[in-house]
Amino acid sequence: MKFLLAAVNAKYIHSNPAVYSLKAYAGEEYEKEIEIAEYTINNSQSYILSDLYKRRPDAVAFSCYIWNWRIIRELSEELSKIMPGLPIWLGGPEVSFDAEEILKECGWITGIMIGEGEETFRELFCLCRRALADGGTIGGNPGKTEGLVCRQGGKIVRTGQREPLDMNSLPFLYHQPEKFRNRIIYYESSRGCPYQCSYCLSSVERKVRFRNIETVKKELQFLLDAKAAQVKFVDRTFNCLPAHAMEIWKYIDAHDNGTTNFHFEIAADRMNEEELTILSQMRPGLVQLEIGIQSANLLTLREIDREADMEKLERTVGRIRGGGNVHVHLDLIAGLPYEDYASFGRSFDTVYAMRPEQLQLGFLKVLKGSPMHERAEKYGIKYTSLPPYEVLCTDWLSYGEICRLKQIEEMVELYYNSNQFTHTLPVLEKSFSSPFSMFEKLAEYYEENGYFLNSPSRAYRYDILLKFALCCGREEEALYKELLTYDIYLRENMKSRPGFARDLSGYKEEFRNFYSGEEGRWEVLSAYRGCQAREMARMTHIEMFHYPVWKTGGSMDKLNKEKKVVFDYGERNPLTKEARTITLD
Ligand code: SF4
Repeated sequence: MKFLLAAVNAKYIHSNPAVYSLKAYAGEEYEKEIEIAEYTINNSQSYILSDLYKRRPDAVAFSCYIWNWRIIRELSEELSKIMPGLPIWLGGPEVSFDAEEILKECGWITGIMIGEGEETFRELFCLCRRALADGGTIGGNPGKTEGLVCRQGGKIVRTGQREPLDMNSLPFLYHQPEKFRNRIIYYESSRGCPYQCSYCLSSVERKVRFRNIETVKKELQFLLDAKAAQVKFVDRTFNCLPAHAMEIWKYIDAHDNGTTNFHFEIAADRMNEEELTILSQMRPGLVQLEIGIQSANLLTLREIDREADMEKLERTVGRIRGGGNVHVHLDLIAGLPYEDYASFGRSFDTVYAMRPEQLQLGFLKVLKGSPMHERAEKYGIKYTSLPPYEVLCTDWLSYGEICRLKQIEEMVELYYNSNQFTHTLPVLEKSFSSPFSMFEKLAEYYEENGYFLNSPSRAYRYDILLKFALCCGREEEALYKELLTYDIYLRENMKSRPGFARDLSGYKEEFRNFYSGEEGRWEVLSAYRGCQAREMARMTHIEMFHYPVWKTGGSMDKLNKEKKVVFDYGERNPLTKEARTITLD
């Protein structure tokens, strides 16, 4: 028999751990009979359909999430036309909470696996296999298998509820890490979350289950030995059990291979001193943290059952950021109860002041099965009927304001999260009443100039920011030009000189002397000792500045004497990827 497990991921670098876990849990003896097919939402539907058809499965199961359900619904219907009689099963959070409704609407679906799927799939697979061997149909007869909603005798039936699995019964998924080269490795050391945020599906299962810590260490060592590029822990709140988190952090710190990066989602206001200390000692780039702030409005936080100690949270993020070795990603959600446009602006400014490497401005998704789904009407929350069920308006935010926030989100992505303007933005901000107001005005500028339609290139964004700064900022043109020049050369060893950069043709001789002469260049660029001057010039860049543009957030008073800055692209900051700079008189 061939049972096909099909996943449609959001991006190529993603993988779907659910289908790998289902296959591995079913056991080695069935390995050859269970096939995995992964696609992305960017593949054409006709390509996916023809590939599914070519694989000639005896049964298929799709892994369903908000980002792929529309595609899977259409695909599965077309598949049922070209392979009549093929049992088509579904599983995943998007189909687990209204399974009967889905079966009523989608007459071609055989059944749905509800909730945690490993044991359910193993039993279902064995049922189908036996039925096929007996010459019967391998349709929807659920037998004694729990956790199913399926068709039986013209009716839709629901079998008993399945108990959560012991985390130690789950298999390790990455014995062949080469299969995941260039893709993110997802790893779970726990399932469930002790918190109850009303918009989140993880709040439904309150009990947290942990994998044995010694097993976790062995598996992490395997990934470290394989030099995996990135291991993303999918634990919902990684530090909810401090002792478990500490064991893992201590382990990866002690066994760091100099390459692998580990990603964790944590609750910052639950961090203790010991955890902060170990994080502060880690190699820059070993760990990155995602911290959901969601809102700084205390009324909002209380209403969504997510009370947080904001002061402790800000202090903690400040400590982590201060270490300069951990990449921090902070999340905000627009569309929550009691958060109007002005209040969201204040939440934005609070989070922005923490200066994360990434600030993700998301929009509320009203997920089936979450408490928010039940309460949406009470808050006047209207959301899209189809996935991703994203907020359109609330009692506190109009649709027009949501549209403005979407534009601001795009500005934050292009100008803040791109990390292209790390020295220009802090100076430009001072011309506005707040950072939120700056991004709001930048969005208006984009709209007036039609840039939202034209999607300016990465390089052209420097020119746009200069034009914006000259029309809305209060500093001198020369300062903005130097800041942008510094920012652009920090990231890129440009071949062609940007239009706003100063003409340095008068310094040619001086620069040539720097590379070929003995003017202390080896002290500055010791890593290039023994290299030809031309090679050194290729790996570095020299720029002249009248302002101390390298001082992020400091005074920008004109210097008495201009300074020379050398950008060294052979040595980049592992966290920010910015070139090393050396300032010379
Ligand atoms: S949002 Fe995070 S902390 Fe809240 S319930 Fe979900 S996983 Fe837990």
